[in-house]
Amino acid sequence: MKYQAPRGTNDMLPQDTANWQYLEDIAKEIFSTYNYQEIRTPIFEQTALFQRGIGEATDIVEKEMYTFEDKGDRSLTLRPEGTASVMRSFLENKIYGQAQPTKYYYMGPMFRYERPQSGRYRQFHQLGVEVLGTDDPAVDAEIIALGMQILERLELDDLEVRLNSVGCPDCRSQYRDKLLDYFKPYLDQLCSDCQDRYERNPLRILDCKEDRDKEFMSDVPKLYEELCNECEDHFAGVQEYLDLLDIDYILDATLVRGLDYYTKTAFEVIYKGLGAQDTVFGGGRYDGLAQEVGGRDIPGVGFAMGMERVLLTVEEQEIDLAIDDSIDLFITTIGEEAKKAAFSYLYQLRQANLKVEMDYLGRSVSGQMKHADRNNAEYSIILGGNELESGVATIKNMKTGDQEEVALDNLVNKMKEYVK
Ligand code: ATP
Ligand code: MG
Repeated sequence: MKYQAPRGTNDMLPQDTANWQYLEDIAKEIFSTYNYQEIRTPIFEQTALFQRGIGEATDIVEKEMYTFEDKGDRSLTLRPEGTASVMRSFLENKIYGQAQPTKYYYMGPMFRYERPQSGRYRQFHQLGVEVLGTDDPAVDAEIIALGMQILERLELDDLEVRLNSVGCPDCRSQYRDKLLDYFKPYLDQLCSDCQDRYERNPLRILDCKEDRDKEFMSDVPKLYEELCNECEDHFAGVQEYLDLLDIDYILDATLVRGLDYYTKTAFEVIYKGLGAQDTVFGGGRYDGLAQEVGGRDIPGVGFAMGMERVLLTVEEQEIDLAIDDSIDLFITTIGEEAKKAAFSYLYQLRQANLKVEMDYLGRSVSGQMKHADRNNAEYSIILGGNELESGVATIKNMKTGDQEEVALDNLVNKMKEYVK
């Protein structure tokens, strides 16, 4: 074979897309009950939006973006995440002029140039929410509840909610100095990335995958213990609302997220069974983002859920999603006349929203019956010269083997009765 799908991308074949659609349907139902509305933004944006909105010192901007120039010499980037685009759209369309808050959800592909491995791809899919225009801690708790509800509807277990507050620029700048002091004696024990981060963005040393299990990490000062009053109240509020819903969480001072614009709440939901890539969804508050990309002060909070990781968890936990891949009726035909008659019956049945099929490969009758089985037909019917002449055929229930005669004139009504 001469061509292959690009590294880090996946074909989703029908045996996969059934699960994807199931997840999407459940998510949409839950978004709707929480009163979130869908937003669809372009797959690519101006590169500068991501540089600004995600932050120059992040992994995404430093090394993971798919950036290209179009024929008009514009620098564009395939979106690596959803939040910056949603904020850009919110500002550009002046949605802030409407009654707030704005509660959006999105679903779709994201692109990052990463080393592909289980749960990490170059084209992957996220569903996510963004709530703009309020800094009420109740909303932080609401989106965690919403994300958890999606996973619970899929019957996933053993999920862990990890919660932190990364404060605001005020409390963070003091904390930053503390961190610098703390890490100074260990500088040569940090990985080379973190030695770099020490000057540029020391907070991010905390969630370094290489360093996080090193001994000196266990005594790192905790930012959530040193928050300013406002951030402390907010953090207490989030916890209170989570407690109200009986949602368990673990406080985790090392959870800082990769993105610079996060303020106050940061959270992650993990499933340890996924191995190295164990974060199913993560998010937090980004009250600084609107200022960064649009010069306006608009609070926001959101999460992004890795859809591949959700489905990997489904697989790992051996959950059988209740997917109905059956068809209602298969019409087996004998001869050209019968095929034509079947063709128009199928049309009538399909217009009545029934899921029906026939053979297009000139199979023998037994070959067609096998094909009906492969299609998981609930019912089957054989149409030949006799049936056309008498106007009566036999419908067979493929599960029970029960048979019933039906006037072909009445086939649509009969089938509707059967499958309702
Ligand atoms: P990580 O530390 O794993 O790189 P991240 O901080 O880059 O995660 P986010 O940007 O917060 O992740 O993305 C939110 C979610 O999207 C992740 O928790 C994960 O489920 C999913 N995700 C992120 N990157 C990928 C990827 N390359 N492939 C598949 N899923 C991904
Ligand atoms: Mg990443």
